[in-house]
Amino acid sequence: MARQLAGQTAIVTGASRGIGRAIVRACLEMGINVVAVARNEYGLERLQEEMRVGKRLLAVACDIRDQLEVERLFEVACDRFGSIEIVINNAGVGFFAPIEEYDEAMLDEILDTNLKAVFHMCRAAFVHMKRGGGGQIVNIAALLGHVAEPFASAYCASKWGVLGLTEALRLEGSPHGIRVASVSPGTTQTDFGGIPSSQKGQALRPETVAEAVTYLLTQGDDAKMTQVVLR
Ligand code: NAP
Repeated sequence: MARQLAGQTAIVTGASRGIGRAIVRACLEMGINVVAVARNEYGLERLQEEMRVGKRLLAVACDIRDQLEVERLFEVACDRFGSIEIVINNAGVGFFAPIEEYDEAMLDEILDTNLKAVFHMCRAAFVHMKRGGGGQIVNIAALLGHVAEPFASAYCASKWGVLGLTEALRLEGSPHGIRVASVSPGTTQTDFGGIPSSQKGQALRPETVAEAVTYLLTQGDDAKMTQVVLR
């Protein structure tokens, strides 16, 4: 039987635009309370104005690369909603260039945002969900976590890493009622990677990726669905 999620609370990172914003909308439409996370407060204010759901949406400015900020995020979210049943790790960055053109700062930004920050978020979620008797985590990886392309070395490394992290935590979380899964989209119509969405005409719509997330979240207890790959 499909899970009923109304009344549960989800933290969604990278919520201010693109795929994250579509996930926020889909969760709110299902009756899920949402804690929307991004760094830029202006983007979060615009999200709140657009969604118009009052107290069911809490926007928190947080740089998820900072472990202490992530711990504070969970405290703020729990103070508001009592418990967190769902975490969607969606925030990510991408630069695409020949390897000789990467400096250490670019490499750090990709690995810290796409991999280390997901680790911080999962760690905080596990602490919280073990106390609460379970929960669900969905990590947004990428098709480039399954295949590779030239000029995507750092991005591929980060997303292949996310899939390894997801699988390890799926096994670790299972005895505690914590389900961990991934959604891997191909090119999606957002401004990601510095390329405007208007130049990605044939690509996936952000709403399609959000539907895959809610599909995973609503699977019954008997389903061991762990990866959705969208091409
Ligand atoms: P996007 O439109 O560029 O949005 C990225 C979001 O992440 C923004 O809300 C941004 O807000 C937030 N963010 C970035 N760094 C952050 C940090 N350190 N802490 C907190 N929030 C942060 O990207 P998107 O296209 O929606 O991509 C979402 C996810 O899908 C990413 O993981 C990406 O790798 C993956 N993906 C995208 C595509 C694609 O073609 N679009 C394809 C495959 C996979 P602030 O800048 O305000 O922090």
